[in-house]
Amino acid sequence: MEIGFIGLGSMGYPMAENLLKAGHALAIWNRSREKGEGLASQGARQAGRPADAVSADGVAITMVADDAALESVVLGPDGILEKLGPGGVHVSMSTISPALSARLAELHRARGSHYVAAPVFGRPDAAAAKMLFVLCAGPAAACERVRPALEAMGQKVFPLGEEPVHANIIKLGGNFMIMSVIEAMAEAMTLGEKHGVPREKTMEVLTQSIFPAPLFVNYGKQIAAHAYRPARFKLSLGLKDANLVLGAAARAQVPMPLAALMQGRYLAAVAKGRADLDWTAAALNVAEDAGLDPGDGH
Ligand code: NAP
Repeated sequence: MEIGFIGLGSMGYPMAENLLKAGHALAIWNRSREKGEGLASQGARQAGRPADAVSADGVAITMVADDAALESVVLGPDGILEKLGPGGVHVSMSTISPALSARLAELHRARGSHYVAAPVFGRPDAAAAKMLFVLCAGPAAACERVRPALEAMGQKVFPLGEEPVHANIIKLGGNFMIMSVIEAMAEAMTLGEKHGVPREKTMEVLTQSIFPAPLFVNYGKQIAAHAYRPARFKLSLGLKDANLVLGAAARAQVPMPLAALMQGRYLAAVAKGRADLDWTAAALNVAEDAGLDPGDGH
């Protein structure tokens, strides 16, 4: 398959690399061009602007940071929307607002191109290992066409029907649950610490008994050790997702008090200069609120 891949950050780069390894022909574009050099040396073509990475009836994959970035690479003057025509498919893999997803689906429909929402679960190490979980929703024929590409990037693709927004909503629900787990683990460990129980001991017992899921094990280790560098998922992006959850919740009149709590945690962390730490660093605020001095993580 010939694919235009746009956005080569912590997630996009290893995902694009796996497409190359699977034998797909890749044209790439990233705002900071130098990040594409490694892929260019493996055979990818570097495009001068997003639109030049795709052909009219081709497949474009975007994996940029947020709504504003996606609008810029799709709707901006060099964006892919104008380039894609009948038969073209845009696969949007970022975690974005359901509102933008719905808008893009409509804009594509009006031009005869197709919009597929395919957000993912898994961090950059999972992306590199082809272990992502891919949620996929959009027009059936378009989803079927891009399925081999999605399978080249992940361990499992979840088909979620024709409505792109459904994939975005499930993705936000999942990230909301991860935020809540980060907070719960940080509070349990801080409770232990204040009573003289080492953080690692609390997590060891809980993950070897009633909470054995990989999420608790992996995030628990990070939070126990206050190990937040380098960020695998930046805290600033965690704040973005808390805002997206609350926006979607407000529109549907769904009170989500835990999401509001986590938005506050992330806002406080950003205000303290922690935007580029891993999002598990919300645990620093939990410790500080209990009168501990955890430092700034490592
Ligand atoms: P990242 O490392 O910060 O990369 C962000 C990418 O977006 C870079 O390619 C960046 O270009 C580009 N970008 C940012 N602003 C832009 C703009 N205004 N115009 C054009 N390009 C712009 O983020 P990431 O961790 O790869 O995350 C990417 C997406 O995947 C996000 O929506 C995130 O929520 C989601 N996600 C992340 C993870 C994770 O664990 N990291 C897991 C699942 C989903 P430059 O290189 O020029 O800065």
